[in-house]
Amino acid sequence: MSQLAVSSTADMLSKQRQFFASGQTRSIEFRIEQLQRLKQAIRSAQPRVLKALADDLSKPSFEAYTTELSVTGEISQTLKHLKRWMKPKGVGVPLPFLPASAQIYPEPLGVVLIIGPWNYPFQLTMTPLVGAIAAGNCAIVKPSEIAPKTSEAIAELIDQTFAAEYIAAVEGGVETSQDLLSQHFDHIFFTGSTYIGKVVMEAAAKHLTPVTLELGGKSPCVVEANVNVDVTAKRIVWGKFLNAGQTCIAPDYILVNRKIKPELLTALKAALKDFYGDDPKASPDFGRIVSDKHFQRLSKLIGGHLVVGGQSDAAARYIAPTIIDQVSPEHPAMQDEIFGPLLPVLEYETLDQAIAFVNARPKPLALYFFSNSSRDQNRIQQETSSGGLCFNETITHVAISDLPFGGVGQSGLGAYHGKTSFDTFTHYKSVLKKPFWLDVPVRYPPYEGKLKWAKKLLG
Ligand code: NAD
Repeated sequence: MSQLAVSSTADMLSKQRQFFASGQTRSIEFRIEQLQRLKQAIRSAQPRVLKALADDLSKPSFEAYTTELSVTGEISQTLKHLKRWMKPKGVGVPLPFLPASAQIYPEPLGVVLIIGPWNYPFQLTMTPLVGAIAAGNCAIVKPSEIAPKTSEAIAELIDQTFAAEYIAAVEGGVETSQDLLSQHFDHIFFTGSTYIGKVVMEAAAKHLTPVTLELGGKSPCVVEANVNVDVTAKRIVWGKFLNAGQTCIAPDYILVNRKIKPELLTALKAALKDFYGDDPKASPDFGRIVSDKHFQRLSKLIGGHLVVGGQSDAAARYIAPTIIDQVSPEHPAMQDEIFGPLLPVLEYETLDQAIAFVNARPKPLALYFFSNSSRDQNRIQQETSSGGLCFNETITHVAISDLPFGGVGQSGLGAYHGKTSFDTFTHYKSVLKKPFWLDVPVRYPPYEGKLKWAKKLLG
């Protein structure tokens, strides 16, 4: 049980405020020590977390290591650069304001709230926490109740690693989340759906609390005719069916050049067979749907020209990897983010049409473009907008710590990972320092006769 089950969130917040005010979280030594403790705790908790992820999502250990427990790599990266990130940066002072020095001083925000989703429940609460700690904040973490075993494992890990007045975990569902959101935090970091993102932003507005919103949406995968079809198919199938399609940056649908569609469909089917065998249900490498509610939701989207898949088993919350061809924009699977193992395929004739299709919809979290033409890659880069963009690849941009990760428009607000996480949880304070020894009187009233000097000095 989490520390907070026994005390109110308001109490906990007030204790964290006191602890933050003590100044202890600010020193580099403290931050490094806490990050090291967290890294060690994650290493020790590995078996527990793997089991929890298997229970909640049937997540294969390989996927759990590479996509969730790999947060220890983010900690190592942060430890390596933290000293440099924390250094105040001097900036130049223009002549009229001399003598003076000016610097940008990174200061922690205070007490922050991190609300996580269920699909990568461990990584998506721990990675923001790394940023919050690195930047010198206290934090309350609320993992998703939809992945209950992982939520429990996260709460236990945090309880055992940190004092509650510094970092605390609160377990619970919507009510707990709303209770937390009614409090005054210094920053709210939310990962979840676009719909709840709006609820979070509205609650934050009451306290004028800044937010980072890591949201979702439909991430298109555009495939041109001049690609290596087998490699393209493998990369799409991998990105789509990882975690049974429950990935915020999974290719949501394929938009393929009509000329290459038959070949691509054949290659997609072959890749599925290579990865998961003839019966994906029997494969230890294919996950399950997180809950009955999501199983029901996804089941309603299956229909039309099935190229492969379509089978399901409610008791096991299994939905086979499914590819649907000849999909129109009116198909049920094209209305909202799919977030499951269903891959609709739509076609286009010209790249102009594909670009227009993407641009007619909300800005996606990720856009994938498979093409051998640098000219067309440049067109996509310049003529579309998305949180992230990969050429001839899916998903892996998220793993590159130096690339800011976040959405744009409906897919999110703000970003994190690596230095960007530090920035997200930091206030960059502008500091100007002047000595007493020279006090140029030109700025003081009376102004008579001084305007010509002001014009000269300030340009
Ligand atoms: P969700 O929005 O339903 O829930 C996220 C969190 O919000 C949970 O902790 C939940 O308890 C809380 N919550 C739910 N309803 C609430 C309410 N009414 N008021 C306050 N809090 C509430 O999202 P989810 O189903 O856990 O995750 C799936 C969504 O998250 C997808 O849209 C996916 O694309 C998105 N996602 C985005 C990223 C990203 O990095 N951008 C990563 C993973 C998931």
